[in-house]
Amino acid sequence: MNFIRILFRNLTQGPSTDPFPFGATFTPKGLRGRIAFDAARCSGCRMCEHVCAGGAIRFDPTPEGLQFTLWHNTCTFCGLCEHYCIPKAIHLTEDWHLAHRQEDKYRMIEQGTVAYQPCAECGVRFIPISAALVTRVYGAGTAAVARLGRLCPDCRRKRSAAGLNTTGEAK
Ligand code: SF4
Ligand code: SF4
Repeated sequence: MNFIRILFRNLTQGPSTDPFPFGATFTPKGLRGRIAFDAARCSGCRMCEHVCAGGAIRFDPTPEGLQFTLWHNTCTFCGLCEHYCIPKAIHLTEDWHLAHRQEDKYRMIEQGTVAYQPCAECGVRFIPISAALVTRVYGAGTAAVARLGRLCPDCRRKRSAAGLNTTGEAK
């Protein structure tokens, strides 16, 4: 095909690529994009922070609870945080609209606070096991299991110890 024919074909058929950013484009299925965090599902285990090789995740204690911060500017979208999060409190979405100016890089964050709650027995404030985690571990669970999730670690240990007979087997 000579040059004139190619030029004529291109002029008549128009652009072959998407008009983005001046028009719409598509999102490939399964694309790893913006990270979403659901504080209500999180139990504050900090595994996501531990496995994040990019150092994009940090938890800070505040008077209200544990504050989660993720910097999209640092994230490599490897997906390890989602993979290791048992209650699925963190996941990668297919939203890739993350372009930003250099001066906005510290504002490209996802934040949430995993709130302290009072222990159902002693009243001490602690990060409870989330209902999502209880469900993942115990299935639908029972009222007793749900109550265990509302106990602080000390009260849970006391409950477990009280539930053992002299041979060490659970009653
Ligand atoms: S988001 Fe998941 S892995 Fe991270 S602290 Fe919460 S429960 Fe743990
Ligand atoms: S996707 Fe990877 S780099 Fe991004 S926050 Fe999760 S573990 Fe860190």
